[in-house]
Amino acid sequence: MAYDVVVIGSGPGGYVAAIKAAQLGLKVAVVEKRATYGGTCLNVGCIPSKALLHASETFAHVNHGLDSLGVEVGKPVLNLEKLMGHKDSVVKANVDGVAFLFKKNKIEAFRGTGKILGAGKVAVIDDKGGEQVLETKNIVIATGSDIAGIPGVPVEIDEEVIVSSTGAIALKKVPETLIVVGGGVIGLELGSVWSRLGAKVTVIEYLDKILGGMDGEISKQAQRLLAKQGLEFNLSAKVTGVEKTAKGAKVTFEPVAGGEAQTLEAEIVLVSTGRRPYTEGLGLEAAGVALDDRGRVEIDGHFQTNVPGIYAIGDVVKGPMLAHKAEDEGVALAEILAGQHGHVNYEVIPGVVYTQPEVASVGKTEEELKAAGVAYKVGKFPFTANGRARAMEVTDGLVKILADKETDRVLGVHILGFGAGEMIHEAAVLMEFGGSSEDLARTCHAHPTMSEAVKEAALATFFKPIHM
Ligand code: FAD
Repeated sequence: MAYDVVVIGSGPGGYVAAIKAAQLGLKVAVVEKRATYGGTCLNVGCIPSKALLHASETFAHVNHGLDSLGVEVGKPVLNLEKLMGHKDSVVKANVDGVAFLFKKNKIEAFRGTGKILGAGKVAVIDDKGGEQVLETKNIVIATGSDIAGIPGVPVEIDEEVIVSSTGAIALKKVPETLIVVGGGVIGLELGSVWSRLGAKVTVIEYLDKILGGMDGEISKQAQRLLAKQGLEFNLSAKVTGVEKTAKGAKVTFEPVAGGEAQTLEAEIVLVSTGRRPYTEGLGLEAAGVALDDRGRVEIDGHFQTNVPGIYAIGDVVKGPMLAHKAEDEGVALAEILAGQHGHVNYEVIPGVVYTQPEVASVGKTEEELKAAGVAYKVGKFPFTANGRARAMEVTDGLVKILADKETDRVLGVHILGFGAGEMIHEAAVLMEFGGSSEDLARTCHAHPTMSEAVKEAALATFFKPIHM
């Protein structure tokens, strides 16, 4: 056997699995068909979108004035080419970083499409059709996901006028108007970017709320704040057509409950209706690897498919399509392959929406607890009552903590506010150790910090907050 592990795909799942396996002494190869490593996340997902979010936030901050802070500046001028240059350089630094880590850990990387020939054999097919076969004890499928499109609606995504997230992170000019089909995380993040830079953004969403799986109260407040920033929302609206026009593209939609259809036109339409597992060209059928009813590679509790020696992790398997979930699965699987006891706690996977303010959550929502018949108590604390938030003029939002009524164990934490994506981790650590809201409330928090709102919300679940 030439390798202990061959990983197909170098996204957060694949590259982390490869590095961890190499660190544990296994001989590892990675096969990647993209020109650079890092997968969707580093090339066209998490990283470029966050570079754009940061730059556009800075622009909007200065554009809307710093007068109240006593900082007088002129109107900012947008240089979109430079802004995109910032994004590209951040992506380059990250993908180069993965290439460096492969070298450092003596991981052999092969450029080409990986095709499974059966347990223990992976063909690497290069651009010119040349083929090389790698022999290995274990195969890891980490091929990620691709855009899903709108169920039942044929849409031609040209990445110029009708775009997916990949086109939306590379627009050459700020559109006057942008329609976002799908009010999930990606649509709202990229909608916010272009709205801040000057586009009039309209979101069309099938559900009666934005951010589908989020706690209802938090999602409602987030929508209110985004609407204040200028985003328009059409909820409970079913899109039935997206077509190009002379001036851009038009979207036809009708109320989900039934009723008259409407048409809206915009310079650009972003289709962000979700992602689907990517398994094309892998040869899974011939290799006998089973998929589930949603096209995901089926795995057992140890990431193994129905074919011994073939494993799968990340977006291509069940669970939230998040980079850190893929990474944690990569680490756990590498440990298992090295004879250890890798494990992922799916109950404690934080989710962050990088709008401004950010929305972050971990654990159960109020709706989930109600549906499961769990008796719970709620503690909330608004950032308007937090000194640091006032000092920074970021008083929008709140912390909401859900704890078991009997045991006080924290079951879910939801934060809408500046820096929510950082603050959520103290809740995640607490929940990982099965902590109670009293544990959280009795942990000394530095003053003045936004995180004091977490402590106060914890206090509110069983007694009273101090500053309210
Ligand atoms: P991927 O990152 O998709 O990597 C799979 C890799 O496999 C790709 O490079 C692909 O080229 C390669 N591949 C596929 N088939 C083959 C083959 N046969 N042979 C060789 N190579 C192959 N998640 C977050 O947690 N936080 C965020 O802020 C966030 N922002 C996002 C923003 C956007 C715009 C998008 C689109 C996604 C975002 N995500 C975010 C989701 C995140 O990108 C994914 O969850 C993550 O990339 C999944 O990692 P993965 O390793 O499973 O797959």
